[in-house]
Amino acid sequence: MRRILVQNNFFLLTPFDLNQTEVLFAPKYKSTIQKDFFKRRFNALSLIAPHLKWVESISENEFDVALAWDAFYEKKTFGNKLDPIQNRLFSSLPFKLQESFTPFRQLAEVHLPLLFNSATPPWDEEIKKELHYYFVDKKLPLTYLNTRNEMLGRDGSTKFSSFLSSGFLDVRYLYNEVKQFESIHGATKSTGWIIFELLWREFFYWHYQKYPRHYFSKNGLKSLDFSVVQTHTPQELQNMNVYPFFHAALNELLSTGFLSNRARQIFASIWINDLQLDWRSGAKLFEENLIDYDVYSNYGNWMYLAGVGVDPRGKRYFNVDKQLENYDPSGAYLKTWK
Ligand SMILES: Cc1cc2nc3c(=O)[nH]c(=O)nc-3n(C[C@H](O)[C@H](O)[C@H](O)COP(=O)(O)OP(=O)(O)OC[C@H]3O[C@@H](n4cnc5c(N)ncnc54)[C@H](O)[C@@H]3O)c2cc1C
Repeated sequence: MRRILVQNNFFLLTPFDLNQTEVLFAPKYKSTIQKDFFKRRFNALSLIAPHLKWVESISENEFDVALAWDAFYEKKTFGNKLDPIQNRLFSSLPFKLQESFTPFRQLAEVHLPLLFNSATPPWDEEIKKELHYYFVDKKLPLTYLNTRNEMLGRDGSTKFSSFLSSGFLDVRYLYNEVKQFESIHGATKSTGWIIFELLWREFFYWHYQKYPRHYFSKNGLKSLDFSVVQTHTPQELQNMNVYPFFHAALNELLSTGFLSNRARQIFASIWINDLQLDWRSGAKLFEENLIDYDVYSNYGNWMYLAGVGVDPRGKRYFNVDKQLENYDPSGAYLKTWK
């Protein structure tokens, strides 16, 4: 019987034959509400997946596979069943404010009722609270442009990625929230930048539809090369002799499942340029640990930074000392996650 590990990327479960598969379900969550959501979801899924196991923490030898990776290498029809209903953004113009913030979910509920069975209300409440906090209480879109590179704290960036990736916050709804904010407070470069970032997310999604195999190739868009990848356990990575920033970011990733965009970029640059490791093993590490893991954004960004993706400028090298001078001048990030 095959065995797979599922964390927050639960939508991808459907292509697998759940009767024939032992599934270790190890979601990452930040609050008891989220944990409760996953527990309910687990209970619903157990009805159709007899070999589903809830695991609180994962030991190394349980780490057989990460889903997208495994699905690709076993040439499964990964994602195919869900692709049509994941085509959720910018398909119908002009945008209208949605009655529910999860039209994607409404569609998915029709197709996959058990996956959503009685699992959603607490999650909805939490998302509503977060949206209110971001757009109404703190009016954070006003400052996003100046703060988005902050590596510590709640307010620097939106922190909506995990809601988006799990499909519970529809990106069109979020887009409309920004537009609504602009109609009250004015459209600025800062509010526009949030939309720009959402477009990156969508770009990777659509781009992947065109080049699905290249997203897992060592040479990315340049050519197909599926040579074996050497992966690295967190223990091995912790023992590597490299910048303290690398260890701090690894520590944050393993402890929280999150890294700011800036930290992801610097970490990936060290991985690719300083440690000279295969970008695909870095992508796999993120796949296994990010709370907002999204196959398109993750592999798309890694490929981009490795110089084999959509960036015409080639490999991106981040000078770590300079980056820290700019984005961690007081050393607070290193101190927090050392
Ligand atoms: C190596 C690497 C791997 C990444 N892996 C993922 C991943 O698995 N899942 C994921 O959601 N994002 C990924 N990103 C993109 C980005 O880092 C996160 O979306 C962002 O840090 C999440 O925090 P936020 O919601 O506060 O972002 P914000 O800065 O508030 O941005 C708003 C939204 O725009 C989208 N977005 C922002 N930056 C990017 C980007 N570079 N590419 C695509 N979409 C973006 C996200 O949906 C995000 O929630 C990755 C970036 C890098 C450099």
